[in-house]
Amino acid sequence: MPIRILPPEVARRIAAGEVVERPASVVKELLENSLDAGATRVSVEIAEGGTRLIRVTDNGCGIESGELELAFRRHATSKLEAEDLGAIATLGFRGEALPSIAAVSDVEAVSRTAGAPSATLVRLEAGEVVESRAAAGPAGTSIAVRNLFRRQPARLKFLRSASAEAGQIATVVSHYALAYPEVAFSLVVDGRETFATSGSGSRREAVSGVYGSGTAAAMIEVSESSEDHSLEALIGAPGLSRASRSYITIFINRRWVRSRTLAFAVEEAYRGLLPAGRYPIAIVDLHLPPSEVDVNVHPAKAEVRLRDERRVFGLVQRPIRAALAGMAAPSYGAAPAWPRAQPLASSWAPDEPAGVPHGGPPQPEVEARQQPLPTRIPVLRPLGQAGTTYVIAEGPAGLYLIDQHAAHERVLFERIRAGRQGGPPAFQGLLAPATLELTPQQEALLDGHREALRSVGFEVEAFAPGRRHRGPGGYILRAVPPLMKADDPGRAFTEVLDLLTREDAPADPLDRLAASLACHAAVRAGHSLSVEEMRDLLRQLEDCETPQTCPHGRPTMLHLSADELARRFARR
Ligand code: ADP
Ligand code: MG
Repeated sequence: MPIRILPPEVARRIAAGEVVERPASVVKELLENSLDAGATRVSVEIAEGGTRLIRVTDNGCGIESGELELAFRRHATSKLEAEDLGAIATLGFRGEALPSIAAVSDVEAVSRTAGAPSATLVRLEAGEVVESRAAAGPAGTSIAVRNLFRRQPARLKFLRSASAEAGQIATVVSHYALAYPEVAFSLVVDGRETFATSGSGSRREAVSGVYGSGTAAAMIEVSESSEDHSLEALIGAPGLSRASRSYITIFINRRWVRSRTLAFAVEEAYRGLLPAGRYPIAIVDLHLPPSEVDVNVHPAKAEVRLRDERRVFGLVQRPIRAALAGMAAPSYGAAPAWPRAQPLASSWAPDEPAGVPHGGPPQPEVEARQQPLPTRIPVLRPLGQAGTTYVIAEGPAGLYLIDQHAAHERVLFERIRAGRQGGPPAFQGLLAPATLELTPQQEALLDGHREALRSVGFEVEAFAPGRRHRGPGGYILRAVPPLMKADDPGRAFTEVLDLLTREDAPADPLDRLAASLACHAAVRAGHSLSVEEMRDLLRQLEDCETPQTCPHGRPTMLHLSADELARRFARR
């Protein structure tokens, strides 16, 4: 095959794929443009997870009528002097977003600068301008993106459900709302306003708009600055911990970044204050000299490269740690009720693929060579507990160490799945129904798992259905699954929702929910067990279809064979 240069529109579409991966990336680019334009009000409206419509409207500086078409050409930007790449202060700078978005959708842009007599409207289809004229419109810019990926069926297929995509969009908008408290944000999903912030400039108020007023009131302010950096953070007291990392939000120079290192710096600051598997809520706003930060890594720009990562780790970890110093570790909830051994419902279809872990169990790093286990595990006798985390047990083939949480998760997971197939769900009605304030992400998770939630025994209804309300979504929780302790059902419910976002959760929504519920209800590491309780746990594990791994794919047990022991003690 001869080498050929791609036709321009093909090259354009390939490059667009890099910037515009999914609807949430479109929203991110449009939001950043609005913020770069100095907007104090930004509203986002989406329909069908953003595939039918994404509209971002701002009251920013607007685009001159003669330049609106130009803005949709590649590498057209007003934000960069050619030699400036080392010190970028705006969110955008590549001039890639608008042409990339236009290449994979139909766009209608209306914009007006403050002094202009009228607005200008430009329509593009598949990247080509099909209409351009004067129009009516307020000062600012409104960009509507329709039929995203309609001409890229492969990409469309790769998207998740509308509610999952809407959830990702809600995540993006709410992160920016937290970073820019001086800007009033609102998000309307399929005609309903899911949240709005006031734009008053108070970060605590922005937190209230996104996470609810209770959470906002309980946040601690942290601030620190030196000659070349400043940090402002709102962090949750340890009692506000969450079941997932998605509540750690980090901005560098007002850009939302995904940085494992810095998220870990926040977690490290809470070391010893949170039980295993719990994560803090924190919003960290870090300012560094632009030359310390390389945002030119990936077109989507969510990832940054830091010149001195180790130093920045300390800049984040130290002041948060200092603010938390002296706070006592919270006593975390009550121990879950220990379930008695119960035979599994016989309606469990034996040929149904069992709760297969995704990606297979990670190989534990033990020196002892592990014996392959038979599918079922043998009858085990508990000998004791190590580190209030592992049950030590003996079986016919040697010694076993069982991770109590992982094992109990497996037991509950299979029981939940069996219960789901054994007729109508069993509910535990609440005497006092709990009022829930859900974040936009939680609302989207709720929406995407309605069936699954019902099938395991959660009964949730929208508060005053049909009423548009401001602030976090209001719901009422009327019933929870029987295996859930009902002392704080609202909190338990939101934690189960948060657990659905775990990266290692099963892909099937029903299994994913069962795994989240099991993880929430399972006995935790650090909880001491009586011999009786250990015996119950082992009995129930023996009854499992797939006893060797937890529903997230972690191993439940390590086996040290009698042979191995003899060899290690030089008995043979
Ligand atoms: P970049 O943001 O990297 O410059 P974009 O393709 O996102 O590239 O936008 C191109 C240009 O269009 C911007 O540099 C800016 O001048 C203008 N623009 C885009 N969106 C807006 C907006 N909401 N308000 C004002 N100007 C805008
Ligand atoms: Mg841009």
